[in-house]
Amino acid sequence: MTHAARALALASVVIGVASAHPNAQAARAVRYLMGTWCELTMPGEGASPGAAEAAFQEIARLEQILSNWNDASEISRLNASAGRGQQDTSRDLAVVTDTAAKLCTTTHGAFDPTIGSVVHAWGFDTDTPSKPEARPARLAAAHVRCDRVRVKLTPPSIALATDTRLDLGGIGKGYAVDRALDVLRAYGVTRARLDFGSSSLGFIGEVDGGWPVVIADPRDLDTPLLSFRIAQGAVSSSGQRERSFVGPGGRYGHIFDPRTGTPVASSLLLVTVIAPTATIADGLSTALFVMGAADGARYVASRPEVGAIFVEAGAGHDLRITTAGSVPRVERSSR
Ligand code: AMP
Ligand code: MG
Repeated sequence: MTHAARALALASVVIGVASAHPNAQAARAVRYLMGTWCELTMPGEGASPGAAEAAFQEIARLEQILSNWNDASEISRLNASAGRGQQDTSRDLAVVTDTAAKLCTTTHGAFDPTIGSVVHAWGFDTDTPSKPEARPARLAAAHVRCDRVRVKLTPPSIALATDTRLDLGGIGKGYAVDRALDVLRAYGVTRARLDFGSSSLGFIGEVDGGWPVVIADPRDLDTPLLSFRIAQGAVSSSGQRERSFVGPGGRYGHIFDPRTGTPVASSLLLVTVIAPTATIADGLSTALFVMGAADGARYVASRPEVGAIFVEAGAGHDLRITTAGSVPRVERSSR
């Protein structure tokens, strides 16, 4: 998506309260935010265009803090002050960075929010990513490590080591979903489904039979592959296909192995995580994508509140689908 298209899409409208619903309470609204379509459905009490607008405004506010695509965002300004010690930040930036930094430790660096210099070297913070020369790629990778970011929560502040760049692309959408759901709760919304371009999905309340979730085929994102129902919580999916390019030596995607500083290249096509919050689901889907199905399943076994689905390329055109942890019954919709 070009910057012009992003700007245009930002002007998209709230579609409004759907009067077709028996109680005229099922509202649906769509907005282009954080580089993707965000769809909100509220099939319960408290739904109103005002609630939807407030939720979208919360996400737009967080985009101004967390986006690496915008030089004026708070994270971009923080990155520009790397090496200059502890910098005062907003509470949101400190909280999400703190969660990301803790995930870096518990995943032994598979999820690493200091990946920014590498993402930048490969141009994945632009519309035109490309493979860097070996030397700049190596230099960029040298600035990535969990201990190169230091967070304090009270008062909120962050220090980045020299030339280290923070990138919260692997967790920011999930955090935005959680905060937007908080705003809806404050409006008295009793049931909601917030779908962030199908990569992050969060819910308020419960519906009969559970909330239906459909996961697209990673080889053809227009085709459904898996479906399941969950009572509550959040879902996040990570894969290379959504953001990737074909360059010398093959296809390169936007999820990096922090240990090598290169895009993850494995038989894994997609990881879906089910977790109590969208922040954790988002961070973990990125982390498990880096770990791979076997190590990822072992990690999930250590977290009883989490479930994961791994989709790998199998023999021929087939797919290998495995699950770990607390996962509901999964139906396969296509081959
Ligand atoms: P997601 O789509 O949630 O898996 O996040 C992918 C995004 O997270 C990328 O576009 C990068 O901005 C960032 N990222 C890439 N690799 C990593 C990693 N190993 N740890 C944390 N963030 C990453
Ligand atoms: Mg993620």
